[in-house]
Amino acid sequence: MISEKKDIRALSKEELRSFFESIGDKAFRGSQVYEWLWSKGSHSFDEMTNLSKETRAHLNENFVINHIKVDTLQKSSDGTIKNAVKLHDNLVVESVLIPTKKRTTACVSSQVGCSLDCTFCATARLKRMRNLNPDEIYDQVVAIDKESRLYHDKPLSNIVFMGMGEPLMNYKNVLESIDKITSDEGLGMSPKRITVSTSGVPKMIKKLADDEVKFHLAVSLHSAIQETREQIMPFAKNFTLTDLRESLEYWYNKTKRKITYEYIVWKDINDKRVDIEALVTFCKYVPCKVNIIEYNPIDDGHFQQAPSRAIDDYIEALERDRIPVTVRRSRGKDIDAACGQLANKQ
Ligand code: SAH
Repeated sequence: MISEKKDIRALSKEELRSFFESIGDKAFRGSQVYEWLWSKGSHSFDEMTNLSKETRAHLNENFVINHIKVDTLQKSSDGTIKNAVKLHDNLVVESVLIPTKKRTTACVSSQVGCSLDCTFCATARLKRMRNLNPDEIYDQVVAIDKESRLYHDKPLSNIVFMGMGEPLMNYKNVLESIDKITSDEGLGMSPKRITVSTSGVPKMIKKLADDEVKFHLAVSLHSAIQETREQIMPFAKNFTLTDLRESLEYWYNKTKRKITYEYIVWKDINDKRVDIEALVTFCKYVPCKVNIIEYNPIDDGHFQQAPSRAIDDYIEALERDRIPVTVRRSRGKDIDAACGQLANKQ
């Protein structure tokens, strides 16, 4: 049953302080409750032992504490873990823990489904149901951190917003979740360890720069030719490469932080010399690095990973112009946890 009471974690610290004042109590009670909710991760008001019984009863009458619930947990043979996460209204999103020697990364979702329509992505086939709230994003990180400590004996080191959804189409909540993740009252993680990945929403990239965010930005480019990009990412008709370029220049001028371009090379789509040259040219506009991602098939084979020779050609051309390039191997493919495979199959 969905409760009619308000989710207390939707209130900011200031709002909590005002709430206590409004009921004739002291504002600092609001700060106490905030600490219980965020740094201590309380699931019930009864745990809040420094509040009086009456106060706790009052909170119980007026609010709920919604937490996500890890419904199923799947483990890949390569150590990757995928969580299917149930939300308070029974919708489900997925998040992934990706362990490597040096780091453990949480890949979190920002929307149920996705606002955009990338033709090669399984998530895009689920229509966008709703945006996640800041606490629902935060809870995914907390759950992965616990699993990292439990199964890999170390805390989470990095977070990428590369799960389901387009983070910049849920701008406010994503930024609020990052505030909580980075604040000392939350998880106290450094924003330098967080990367937000966007399909490229120019207006919102500029807004990130204006808001002086401290995390990293990755852009799913996949083609530097407008016509090709529109074919694989139809929304790009409205968010053109020219506008994208301008927004990235704006971002760099304000933040002085390099952009990462995510790039998949498909057979017969973007594996030709013109595609490579267009990417090299695009990479010269703003300091950047390129992350070539392995394609994870999601369907009948309409899209196919280009042969490794094509990828070598990309690498050679980029390196010739001193543009840093890495190739990202897929992780967790056997449990549909790799990039673009998150589609709530369970
Ligand atoms: N909407 C955001 C974040 C989610 S997708 C974005 O587009 O950046 C995370 C990354 O996975 C993106 O780079 C996306 O292009 C890529 N991706 C989507 N489908 C994929 C697939 N089938 N195989 C490999 N990568 C895929």
